[in-house]
Amino acid sequence: MTDTAWRAQHVIFEQAAAALLRCPAPVVAAVEGFAFGGGCELGLLADFIVASESAVFAFPEVTRGIFPGIGGTQLLPRVVGGPLAKELIFTGRRVEAAEAKAIGLVNHVVSRGQARARALEIAATIAENGPVAVRQAKKAIAYGTETDLDTAMVLAIEAYNATVVTEDRREVHGALGTPPMTTMPLTLTDEQRSLKAGVAEIAKRYPGEYWRELDRERAYPEAFVAELTRAGYLAALIPPEYGGAGLGIYEAGLILETINACGANAGACHAQMYIMGTLLRHGSEAQKRAYLPKIAGGELRLQAFGVTEPNSGSDTTKLQTTAVRTGDRYVVNGQKIFISRVLQSDLMLLLARTTPVDRVKRKTDGLSVFLVDIRGIKGLEVRPLRMMMNHSTNALFFDNMEVPAEGLLGEEGRGFAYILDGMNAERILVASDSLGDGRWFVEKAVAYSNQRVVFGRPIGANQGVQFPIAKAHMAVGAAELMRNRAAALFDQGQACGPEANMAKYLAAEAAWEAANACMDCHGGYGYAEEYDVERKFREARLYKTAPISQNLVLAYVGEHVLGLPRSY
Ligand SMILES: Cc1cc2nc3c(=O)[nH]c(=O)nc-3n(C[C@H](O)[C@H](O)[C@H](O)COP(=O)(O)OP(=O)(O)OC[C@H]3O[C@@H](n4cnc5c(N)ncnc54)[C@H](O)[C@@H]3O)c2cc1C
Repeated sequence: MTDTAWRAQHVIFEQAAAALLRCPAPVVAAVEGFAFGGGCELGLLADFIVASESAVFAFPEVTRGIFPGIGGTQLLPRVVGGPLAKELIFTGRRVEAAEAKAIGLVNHVVSRGQARARALEIAATIAENGPVAVRQAKKAIAYGTETDLDTAMVLAIEAYNATVVTEDRREVHGALGTPPMTTMPLTLTDEQRSLKAGVAEIAKRYPGEYWRELDRERAYPEAFVAELTRAGYLAALIPPEYGGAGLGIYEAGLILETINACGANAGACHAQMYIMGTLLRHGSEAQKRAYLPKIAGGELRLQAFGVTEPNSGSDTTKLQTTAVRTGDRYVVNGQKIFISRVLQSDLMLLLARTTPVDRVKRKTDGLSVFLVDIRGIKGLEVRPLRMMMNHSTNALFFDNMEVPAEGLLGEEGRGFAYILDGMNAERILVASDSLGDGRWFVEKAVAYSNQRVVFGRPIGANQGVQFPIAKAHMAVGAAELMRNRAAALFDQGQACGPEANMAKYLAAEAAWEAANACMDCHGGYGYAEEYDVERKFREARLYKTAPISQNLVLAYVGEHVLGLPRSY
């Protein structure tokens, strides 16, 4: 290359470096493999670096007769200190990931292949915060560290004052719990209407007799689930590149709500929708390619989610099932309780402890998530439990069950965070189950109260019968608004923990209120199997307890939304 061409090309690099350095939004660098020379400088120009254990950093320019040309000589000393920067730049010595972490060059070192995923995870957390606040903080740090402390303090206070007048600040610190602005659907689109109509058409082909028979036998609704799968409804949330419909959580919720509103039971198949999210967000590309298309096509079923244990219950971090790495596999020992649909699944998502609790900093560390192919697996005993309702629920016993190391999702030890990450989807979908139940009870109660004549008039003419149904209808409608709000936030990629939890709570309570109004107005007939009311009554009750009990939602809202002391 001629000197002129060299300089012309370098101008482009300089402009790119300046743009990156002064980018107002945070920039997180993810490094896999070599980051030499310009690559290393790009990392330094970002706000911080997430590296995989395969990452190697170096400034080998001096060995080629030049030196780091887009700021390496200025940036590296600011990060690792002058003397070490000089050594690295003068010698061109290679720095491996562990040393890079030790000298502060990178913030995190993760397993091979996971740097991008971890960087995106951190970026997603940052994106949940006030955008103006984050940018101003970045500006204050960037300019403040380049000047004397007095000037830096002035800069920081000015940047801070700029956040006071923003909507972000008012949303968080305004009236308690005032939710952020978002657009929420008030009516269904034509596509959403036809989605519901399609689901209802299938659900109505499986009438009360079908469910009653299964309920008696405690049998799984194979035909119903197979038909929903064939029609693609259970793959609603799987992105199109993996063979799914790529719909939003709102649409997924409408599917479940419609199933239950038709008198069917979405509990037989709802879990696949939210379990799959953990694989989608934290699985490697190879895992996603291996499983998601088959799940979408119905070739594989992922309906089992093994978290609850007899000795820990709602206190998940105390779970005692262990997975110990031995060569190329993990050996699992322990016990789970109330794990549903294991006998109807090919795959199970399993949460187990990989590092003993006394060897981790926080009790939430050291838990890992595995995607286990349970077809014919040795060391797993499944004992079906006869429950109040037909839910295919089991006790599981692991006796040296071997899981190939490729079954680990994401990084070892970060499983609790991955599970938490999927909670909002789970809450919104379970709220949708309850909304469907609530609608079914209200419709059934209205129909019966209009036609049952006692004392010479329809029982619905009595306020004692009519008002509880009207109240339940209002409760279902209000819960639906909260579900819609949570779903809208979720689908816009915004934080929705409070809304998702409140939706689950309110919908479960509303369904239960409707269930009782429906039972009451049916008198003795409510207890007769052929009316389906007692079956739905038993089914709807579950969502006050699982997948999380109402008390734990109240504890979440008390602590995380209202700022009250932790109560558990
Ligand atoms: C039919 C069915 C299917 C299920 N399917 C699955 C499944 O597929 N996978 C899975 O992992 N789990 C499953 N579960 C388990 C379910 O998620 C748990 O039952 C639920 O989370 C509650 O845990 P627990 O039963 O151990 O109750 P516990 O934790 O023992 O709690 C008992 C009661 O005490 C209350 N309580 C406990 N601590 C506090 C506190 N600090 N403050 C206030 N109240 C408190 C709870 O709210 C609850 O009412 C299922 C359960 C049922 C019934």
